Amino acid sequence: MAPEIKYTKLFIDNEWVDAKSGKTFETRSPHDGAVIARVAEGDKADVNEAVKAARRAFHRNSEWRLMDASQRGRILNKFADLVERDAEYLGQLESYDNGMVLNLAQLVTGSAGKSIRYIASLADKIQGDTIPIDGEAFSYTLKQPVGVCGLILPWNFPIAMFLNKVMTALAAGCTVVIKPAEQTPLTALALAALLKEAGVPKGVVNVINGYGETAGVALTHHPHVAKISFTGSAEVGKLIQQAAGARNLKRVTLELGGKSPLVVMDDADLNLAVPYAAHGVFSHQGQVCVAASRLYVQSTIYDKFVEAAVNFAKSIKVGNPTDATVQQGPQVDEEMMNKVLGYIERGKKEGAKLMTGGKRVGSTGFFIEPTVFAGVSDDMTIAKEEIFGPVQSILKFDTLEEVIDRANDTNYGLAAGIFTTNINTALQFTKHVEAGVVWVNTYLFTGPQCPFGGVKDSGYGRENGIQSVDPYLEVKTVTVALPKKL
Ligand code: NAP
Ligand code: MG
Repeated sequence: MAPEIKYTKLFIDNEWVDAKSGKTFETRSPHDGAVIARVAEGDKADVNEAVKAARRAFHRNSEWRLMDASQRGRILNKFADLVERDAEYLGQLESYDNGMVLNLAQLVTGSAGKSIRYIASLADKIQGDTIPIDGEAFSYTLKQPVGVCGLILPWNFPIAMFLNKVMTALAAGCTVVIKPAEQTPLTALALAALLKEAGVPKGVVNVINGYGETAGVALTHHPHVAKISFTGSAEVGKLIQQAAGARNLKRVTLELGGKSPLVVMDDADLNLAVPYAAHGVFSHQGQVCVAASRLYVQSTIYDKFVEAAVNFAKSIKVGNPTDATVQQGPQVDEEMMNKVLGYIERGKKEGAKLMTGGKRVGSTGFFIEPTVFAGVSDDMTIAKEEIFGPVQSILKFDTLEEVIDRANDTNYGLAAGIFTTNINTALQFTKHVEAGVVWVNTYLFTGPQCPFGGVKDSGYGRENGIQSVDPYLEVKTVTVALPKKL
């Protein structure tokens, strides 16, 4: 049964309002293409209202700014309780709007409480330093929230991305305006309702559904927004960095996906490497920023590995995301499905060997067969560009030295992985590979305690971990003169 849709409007100042233009847009189910709901379509005028509300809530005399930091943490902990109370419903809503298999959506919402509490625990541990300096003075630092933050979300993990960004900004004491992705607005609205229920004062959290070109652009250009945090494509990330400097100088955090290399050495345990490599690229239909989309296998085991990888891919069950036995659901929309199918055609045309898959499944919904290419070389488009679909590209290498150079020969630098039983090999690889996250004998394994983010064109700044609040804080140095004599 379809989950109930409770919220479809904009959320400003703790109230549900229509867009000033009166416009709405459709959100559809990727499973069958049916319209789930019509959602208020915010644009510049609505962003202006939301930023005004967020600014009022950030005033030095506001309830939020005067609140004891421990109380701020308590409100966020209360929110964790509410997310746990509604975890099943939120998982259903995520699956319905995004096409994520229900099992994965329930895993995300089931562990959300832990992530929220981790970040909430940082709220009252934000403190500066006292600094000895020469002369008759002493200095200390204050760490203060940067101000109104614009948080622009992708559609691939709407709940997880909402929580990462919103919790961190709130723990730091900021106020926020959130723009969810046009494909997946529903869970952001449901979470905003829970933040209100948890006791977040009005204006602290605002949600403007809408399109990147209108609502997103208005947010990134708004002179009263102090910081933007964005997860999405590298292309849009670059636009956001430019926009952020156009009127005022916004602080920016960017998480922009990748073309992550996973290396399998010939001493690896293939009983682990084969399923992890598959999980790394087929999980969530390949719509994962850290997807292991360049799989480098040592030449001595290449043919054996490819055979096992093909068998694994063939065993993946594709279908209705709410079916508990299904492992792969639909791509998020028709446009993304066609983009992925286009990459598959490019792969074939450029000479990669299609071993299995490669086609759309059925004609309803946006499903693609788990696809494996062998004989992929570094110069092929499928080895260079982020596909964001269920496409495993297997490349061949001979030595560790060679594969490190090839792994690094990309503008991206989000994640990397290696399967080996040789500690030396693992340590050399982890030291020299250019990535923000590296896995050894596992893949996609993380927790709220671990900093997450990229290097090079995969962006900068880290989410999660103790330092995650820093990009939402300014350091103010105060120097106080001491009288020479008592
Ligand atoms: P996208 O265009 O980068 O969208 C991400 C978010 O930015 C959405 O909320 C989007 O709004 C908004 N946006 C778009 N243009 C903007 C602008 N000029 N100013 C401000 N905000 C703007 O991503 P996409 O089109 O959905 O997906 C395209 C590709 O991005 C995928 O194929 C994949 O390669 C990559 N991607 C990466 C991640 C990741 O986790 N790093 C996540 C999603 C996608 P709309 O809702 O209107 O698009
Ligand atoms: Mg887009």
